[in-house]
Amino acid sequence: MNIHEYQAKELLAKFGVAIPAGHAALTVDEAVAAAGKLPGPLYVVKAQIHAGGRGKGKFKELAPEAKGGVRLSKTLDEVRANATDMLGNTLVTIQTGEAGKQVNRLYITDGADIAKEYYLSMLVDRQTGRIAMIVSTEGGMDIEEVAHSTPEKIRTITIDPAEGFQPHHGRAVAFALKLKGDLNKQAVKLAQQLYTAFTSTDMSMLEINPLIETTDGKLLVLDAKVSFDSNALFRHPDILALRDETEEDPAEVEASKHDLAYIKLDGNIGCMVNGAGLAMATMDIIKLNGAFPANFLDVGGGATKEKVTAAFKLILSDPAVEGILVNIFGGIMRCDIIADGIVAAAKEVNLSVPLVVRLEGTNVQQGKDILANSGLPIVPADDLGDAAKKIVAQVKKAA
Ligand code: GDP
Ligand code: MG
Repeated sequence: MNIHEYQAKELLAKFGVAIPAGHAALTVDEAVAAAGKLPGPLYVVKAQIHAGGRGKGKFKELAPEAKGGVRLSKTLDEVRANATDMLGNTLVTIQTGEAGKQVNRLYITDGADIAKEYYLSMLVDRQTGRIAMIVSTEGGMDIEEVAHSTPEKIRTITIDPAEGFQPHHGRAVAFALKLKGDLNKQAVKLAQQLYTAFTSTDMSMLEINPLIETTDGKLLVLDAKVSFDSNALFRHPDILALRDETEEDPAEVEASKHDLAYIKLDGNIGCMVNGAGLAMATMDIIKLNGAFPANFLDVGGGATKEKVTAAFKLILSDPAVEGILVNIFGGIMRCDIIADGIVAAAKEVNLSVPLVVRLEGTNVQQGKDILANSGLPIVPADDLGDAAKKIVAQVKKAA
């Protein structure tokens, strides 16, 4: 799960991390009022979307020479004009794709005087089984570009979770950023605070770009992007409350409501499967037969009628779907119950595309009988290979 910049910074501030003062705003008037609470003389109006590259982004509705989604403003009138430009409009950045993202929230912050920009990120490094802190003296810009042209300017410090964060890790971070004196001390402290924030909230990624040194010698987190491990969110109701569903793919939001593991893909064959392993095998075998899956969908062990109905609706809401392959192994859930669910769901959603069903497991014959006697044009299949061949043939025939 991702959160907005202002939420990430407010969260980090709870761990003692220094951030510029700021307030979120949903309307132009709120934005002006938010700026009025800040000391001035410089304000920053920042579009809040779940994507980076906002500063260099472009608004679809505005002239091409108009400024992007991070704008320095010198007066409250300028704050008003910038907020008006951004709210409700679509910001396209290198991370949003062509469609862009509608800006529904702003963050109005106290403008900082920047002496230098640094880069600092953290992630769970699966290769070393440790948390990695990645730092660079080249902040503010595209880190991929730095990694490509000057990889020696990126340093990685890894922290063994059994050992935990030690002062030497902090010193290594400060050294890699070439910081001296009090700034060095601030960096050591910041690294410790970030590690605590990262581990105690189950983050999977934290990116601060830029971390700045102000002209009066302070380290401040100017931009922050945070992702959490979704499997750990049950431990953090306060973080779950920060979720902004308008930023997520509507089909994936719908899937999560029904506890379905759903990921949209580019093909035309919708898949409904139980178990992630079987789902992957099903996708593979569709490809082997010359077609492509439209989605990954795991309905889980207890494939109830409600879940199967929700899954059908989800698959059919994708206009690219030209056929559906149901591949379910009835272990915990018996095949006859699943067949009942499929028939009821297919009737309820007014199935408009070919449907091939492969059932295997407990009470498989009863299940097959239910499908055969349903009066619906369901094509039965005996095994995985047979099922894939049949759905690919059905879709080709319909085309
Ligand atoms: P991003 O474009 O989505 O990564 O948004 P950032 O929050 O990183 O802002 C982009 C750039 O705007 C930063 O790298 C800074 O150069 C500039 N910027 C943001 N906030 C301030 C500020 O308070 N003062 C100044 N002088 N520049 C800022
Ligand atoms: Mg940034």
